[in-house]
Amino acid sequence: MSDQRLVILGGGESGVGAALLAKNKGLNVFLSDRGALQESYRTLLLDSGISFEERQHTEAYILQATEVVKSPGIPDTAPLIQRLRANNIPIISEIEFAARYTTAKLIGITGSNGKTTTTLLIYHLLKVAGLNVGLAGNIGDSFAKQVIEDTVDYYVLELSSFQLDNMFQTKLDRAILLNITPDHLDRYSYNFQNYVNSKFRILQNMTLTYDFIFFIDDSTIAGELTKKPVQVNYLPISLKSVGTSAGYLINNQLNTIYKGQHFQINTKGLPLMGKHNAVNMLAAVLTAQSLGIGLEKLVEGLTTFQNAAHRLEPAGKVNGIEFINDSKATNVDSVYYALESMVAPIIWIAGGQDKGNDYNHLNELARDKVKALICLGQDNRKLIAHFTGIVPTLYETQDVMDAVRQAVALAETGDVVLLSPACASFDLFRNYQDRGEQFKQAVKQIAQ
Ligand code: ADP
Repeated sequence: MSDQRLVILGGGESGVGAALLAKNKGLNVFLSDRGALQESYRTLLLDSGISFEERQHTEAYILQATEVVKSPGIPDTAPLIQRLRANNIPIISEIEFAARYTTAKLIGITGSNGKTTTTLLIYHLLKVAGLNVGLAGNIGDSFAKQVIEDTVDYYVLELSSFQLDNMFQTKLDRAILLNITPDHLDRYSYNFQNYVNSKFRILQNMTLTYDFIFFIDDSTIAGELTKKPVQVNYLPISLKSVGTSAGYLINNQLNTIYKGQHFQINTKGLPLMGKHNAVNMLAAVLTAQSLGIGLEKLVEGLTTFQNAAHRLEPAGKVNGIEFINDSKATNVDSVYYALESMVAPIIWIAGGQDKGNDYNHLNELARDKVKALICLGQDNRKLIAHFTGIVPTLYETQDVMDAVRQAVALAETGDVVLLSPACASFDLFRNYQDRGEQFKQAVKQIAQ
């Protein structure tokens, strides 16, 4: 045992993974969770002989830590975190902790939207090409748990701003920044710049030869890079400018150029649709090219990719009306891209818990494409007030089955019914997955 006293706060996937890794490395580790642990995690800790507590934080003990691994779900404003800070006890994320114990190459992906899709796609492209690769971060098995066996050459890491906030020394080999739009501002003192700074931490230890893949059309990213240029290898993606970008879209063709190697593919027929997914695909392809993956394998990977559920997911057809489940669209920007990528007239189902949304950004698309808006959730009043006069038909409900029934009544053959809420789901549902599942179930029921 070393004299390091590591305390882990939060006993979810990342916390338990960090505890297992710490134990494996012979550290003196203690895990503390203010809530109840999931049965499977409790068993894992007991079986591994790791000390822990649940439904409480024993502060006197925790404040004796030499270092703390904090779950991304715990805000900095929590009194315990403030006390740890006052005592100058370093607080790191599980990613920072696990990265100390691997020499594999790390590919980090962040952004306000598109992280999961792009992370899964990069993982898929690398796998198809036969690379030995792990998938971690905000997704699947924790990074720390995988580092115990550490059998891969690459980890593809989905990084939220909360994880980046507590990363300091971790050096990524590739960084991907998809976009920055206001989100989670409650965790950043309602100051957008704080959130922007957090996202830019992804570059903090990179140097000139390291590839930084980013969406330059995002005015926040572009503005920040003008203010504070970073010494990395810039690989910008643009949907507008062709000449100066490493990745661009022209006449439905995705184009990437990496060290003189040009890759091109038509987006028609590819499983990911919409302009936002063009950005995600360009980022993924550039990453794969930078790792030496050949053009044929890129085509194979792009065409065989299957995205996670609830992201513009086809949810069935009723009377020639197509249903799309985009329940993961919990902010305005993701809805913008969803509306934008639809080709048929839209019956749009939106609503839930409003996160201080500014709907102005959607006005033009809503006016051009949305036949009816069905408001489903706690903050319907705001949606109705905003879209009256923009969308011809508005309907309000608190019931998902009723929303789908009403959508069928309002739609004509050839229309699309799009669930893309722009809001959190916790008013009527357990989470966005539950909302998406209930939506799909309601469509299935009506189809019968
Ligand atoms: P994240 O993990 O960042 O939440 P997801 O891939 O799960 O991202 O997608 C979340 C939502 O954002 C979905 O509705 C999806 O259609 C939309 N989306 C995906 N990629 C982008 C992008 N590059 N820009 C804007 N919206 C996106």
